[in-house]
Amino acid sequence: MVMTAEQAVTWVGKTNTLIQSNKEYLTELDQAIGDGDHGLNMSRGFQEAEAKVSSSEYETVGGVFKDTATVLMSKIGGASGPLYGTAFLKMSMLLRDKPSVTQADFAEAVEEALNGMKQRGKAEQGEKTMIDVWHPVADFLKNGQNVNAGKLVEVAEQAMEGTKDTVATKGRAAYLQDRSKGHIDPGSTSSFYLFQALADVWKE
Ligand code: ADP
Ligand code: MG
Ligand code: MG
Repeated sequence: MVMTAEQAVTWVGKTNTLIQSNKEYLTELDQAIGDGDHGLNMSRGFQEAEAKVSSSEYETVGGVFKDTATVLMSKIGGASGPLYGTAFLKMSMLLRDKPSVTQADFAEAVEEALNGMKQRGKAEQGEKTMIDVWHPVADFLKNGQNVNAGKLVEVAEQAMEGTKDTVATKGRAAYLQDRSKGHIDPGSTSSFYLFQALADVWKE
């Protein structure tokens, strides 16, 4: 699987489409265990990110991700803005000079993104955050020849659903302690949309 700069733009666009059509659902999830703004935060950020990257010319995948990072960082806000911003910034740094990236490059970039997010949010896997989706996806992408679009969606979806049974120890949901159990984490859900959009790009 490879990714060109053009496909990177498509990825951001498809993520935005999924976020916009699931905005209310993301809001509901965040109303249950947070402050109810995740739908609004994500829709504002990805709307602007798509507008920016689809109206610019790019030579490299890193260039697309750098602009995406800048927009997400300034437009999403909340806890998730700096985290998604960091993810795209880390990927952009690794893929800076590349007009098109191989699967191995991309796997490495996602690993870097994950490490950057963990550092930024001081979170580990299992704390009921978006890290719970990024972690297994990063592991899966390192898997080499067994990587395909269908399996990617499966891995990300299962990880997102797995957050339902856990207790939050990071983010706003952590204030609820045991009462955070029984709800899917909003950030894990938006991260699932991101990887679902990626799988869509790969399928084309
Ligand atoms: P806020 O909580 O500031 O209102 P959002 O609602 O946009 O921000 O985002 C909430 C999501 O951010 C959570 O569902 C969770 O996935 C993620 N999150 C919160 N804190 C952390 C953290 N320390 N590390 C990783 N992810 C986090
Ligand atoms: Mg919130
Ligand atoms: Mg908030």
